[in-house]
Amino acid sequence: MTTYTPMMQQYLLIKSEYEDAFLFYRLGDFYEMFFDDALKASQILEITLTGRDAGGKERIPMCGVPYHSAQGYIETLVSKGYKVAICEQTEDPKQAKGVVKREVVQLITPGTITEGKTIDGKSNHFLGCAEQLDEQHFAFAYLDVSTGEANASIIEGGSKTLLLQLQALNIRELVVTEHLQILLAEHASNLGIVLSLENEEMPNAESEKYVQGLPKTLHGVAKSLLQYVERTQMRSLTHIQSFTYIESKQYLRIDTNSKRNLELLQSIRGGDQKGTLLWLLDETVTAMGGRKLKQWLHQPLANRSAIDRRLGIVTELLDEFFLRDELRELLKAVYDLERLAGRVAFGNVGGRDLAQLRESLRQVPFIKEKLIQSGKETLVQLGCNLDECQDIEQILAKAITDEPPISIKEGGVIRDGYHEKLDELRYASRNGKDWIAQLEQKERELTGIKNLKIGYNRVFGYYIEITKSNIANADLTRYERKQTLANAERYITEELKEKEAIILNAEEQSLSLEYDLFVELREELKAFIPRVQVLASQISELDVYVSFAVVTEKYRFVKPEFHEGKALKIVNGRHPVVEKMLNKQLYVPNDCILTEQKNMMLITGPNMSGKSTYMRQVALIVVLAQMGCYVPADEAVLPITDQIFTRIGAADDLAAGQSTFMVEMIESQHAITNATEQSLLLFDEIGRGTSTYDGMALAQSMMEYIHDKIGANTLFSTHYHELTELEEELAKLQNVHVSATEKDGKVVFLHKVKQGAADKSYGVHVAQLAEMPDAIIERAQILLEKFEAKERATVKNSEEKDGELQLSFFDEEVKQEVVHESQAEQVEPLEQVVQTNAELEVIE
Ligand code: ADP
Repeated sequence: MTTYTPMMQQYLLIKSEYEDAFLFYRLGDFYEMFFDDALKASQILEITLTGRDAGGKERIPMCGVPYHSAQGYIETLVSKGYKVAICEQTEDPKQAKGVVKREVVQLITPGTITEGKTIDGKSNHFLGCAEQLDEQHFAFAYLDVSTGEANASIIEGGSKTLLLQLQALNIRELVVTEHLQILLAEHASNLGIVLSLENEEMPNAESEKYVQGLPKTLHGVAKSLLQYVERTQMRSLTHIQSFTYIESKQYLRIDTNSKRNLELLQSIRGGDQKGTLLWLLDETVTAMGGRKLKQWLHQPLANRSAIDRRLGIVTELLDEFFLRDELRELLKAVYDLERLAGRVAFGNVGGRDLAQLRESLRQVPFIKEKLIQSGKETLVQLGCNLDECQDIEQILAKAITDEPPISIKEGGVIRDGYHEKLDELRYASRNGKDWIAQLEQKERELTGIKNLKIGYNRVFGYYIEITKSNIANADLTRYERKQTLANAERYITEELKEKEAIILNAEEQSLSLEYDLFVELREELKAFIPRVQVLASQISELDVYVSFAVVTEKYRFVKPEFHEGKALKIVNGRHPVVEKMLNKQLYVPNDCILTEQKNMMLITGPNMSGKSTYMRQVALIVVLAQMGCYVPADEAVLPITDQIFTRIGAADDLAAGQSTFMVEMIESQHAITNATEQSLLLFDEIGRGTSTYDGMALAQSMMEYIHDKIGANTLFSTHYHELTELEEELAKLQNVHVSATEKDGKVVFLHKVKQGAADKSYGVHVAQLAEMPDAIIERAQILLEKFEAKERATVKNSEEKDGELQLSFFDEEVKQEVVHESQAEQVEPLEQVVQTNAELEVIE
């Protein structure tokens, strides 16, 4: 057996407790890694691998990163899904007998990392914990260690739903039991989610108070989660809030696929947020507001009075143009109070953070005053509810300097006048420095040497320096030589030595006192965390309300109205994102009228005419309204929708063929089994991924089922014209089509939704617009006529082929061109707008 050095034995002992983490072992100014950790880390971090003599026959692998730049390396490892255990020296090496004592002070994991580039200010960074309750149900809790926000809910629908939820919340780490670890392993690793085993120890008694608001079934996960956080952070976390129970019935539920299809927070193509509803809506000016907006977008409400309350506030803000601007200006000066509170709790808050906290709190009385002055009922109420926290502001104002440095060890953080002893020490040290300046002057006069100077260095302290050329003529009897340089000598005097002791002592004492005072203050502030958190939450909501008002005004939104029934009426609705993207060109608004008697729509029309946009716009209006925001329409009277399901194919679905058809069926199945009468269903081109008969048969039977068994508001789009005949059989079904006309043998999209079925599909024309070679167009024209003739004679099967031909010709560029050309024909649709409205009116 190898006998390692005592230090290496200490290392191995500590490492044995953190097998699943990289152990950053503090050695002087470095964090060192050894053995396998070193081999792996040197590769991942691209740092030099060296060796170290550790008492054994062979040198052991070692690599290290400097203490001061460790953060970046830690982030890299954690962002790749690894854990890092930070092992510090916990006693002063000078005082140590034998090996310096070391302990792990924090375990940084993908779900608990709170600082750094990977943490986006406007996003939450949640750590999750799940337990299986039965086949179909999971208990699920999640919390953001940086802000302290904690939630829990029951997940229905098995592990698939759980995984979707993890994805939706962008959870990077999930705390689980061994059983779940096995169950979820493969999927989790595909999604880049790290599974961490929960502790077996009994949960802390303290945790009881955090879970009081939760149903009993959720206590277990919530406590396990708290325990994991405590185990990794190794400190008491005063900022963690009591768990909020997210009861799904209170919210408009939108599954992850549908969120993606509707591009609420992420665009279908991935990448940045451009083109999402979030991108359009985010006019928030604080990071907290940005996070709140995302949460609201994730979970629009399904409770009418809560929605009306939000809408009411937006209405009041809309009436007050100046107030809105003034509030925004004030909010801009508010820093991330939630994360600042988190840092206070963590004990890693710095001087600059506290100055930011102070600056933020200074805005609150003004915000309060503005709200109250508005005289608007709910705004006044919001204002009155704001806790100004000025007692905290005053403590900070007294304690912290105007512009403190980042480091809390080098002084300049605590304000003069805060602490008597500190003032005295500072006076002594400043005074001493003045004295030195005077001494320099005095010595110059006494010796007659003009360039005599007094300097300071860490090794020799203060000294008098005289250049060699001046020494010969000077009287240096009072001087004691200290150091010889190439062209100068350095001296000290009795007097200087005495003063030096006082100055250095005072300085050292003042720095150390200042640090102690800061730590004391930091502790004192912990008591205020809950109040700052409440304030943070109020401020972030206000930021979102103001953002809603700004967006409403910018894009001419209207206040939606709700009623108890199922009918839905949108007059001149727009897809706000598509509208914004169509720079300069006009977006053609469309109505959508669903009544109790006719609550299903079958939409036909050529590809590229706007079917999918139309369906999405209805869903987006429902989402916006239930978030409490105004909506892009002239009028919107809506039911309270409980769930939205979409089956909307992306253009590239078609290329993927069979497997995509499976996805299509899974999504449809999910919708059909979970939808209720109060749901909104969107099915775009159902059954297009299979043969005509198959596709049509499935589409029809699904429509019948929804019609007879579910009764949900449903929009169906199809290119199977045969399906339009269903209108006669299904009482609640109405046919509409997105219109297009021909001009000079070319198709012109009007993007206008009109009553009745489309009579033509224009596929060949679209191909022509895409500049398909003439020969192909002509040939297609002939074939089309042949098919149509055949169809009239026998079975109708031309549609699907037609459909496939159309879509596959498109790429993004061509799409743009088509749309553009269609816009040149804006004159025509206007007339039809009137007509269509009138038509719709009649049905209603
Ligand atoms: P479809 O689903 O019928 O193939 P899309 O809904 O994808 O068609 O619409 C194609 C393009 O037409 C959109 O990207 C958009 O640029 C344009 N468009 C759709 N609806 C409208 C509208 N109401 N007004 C103006 N342009 C529209």
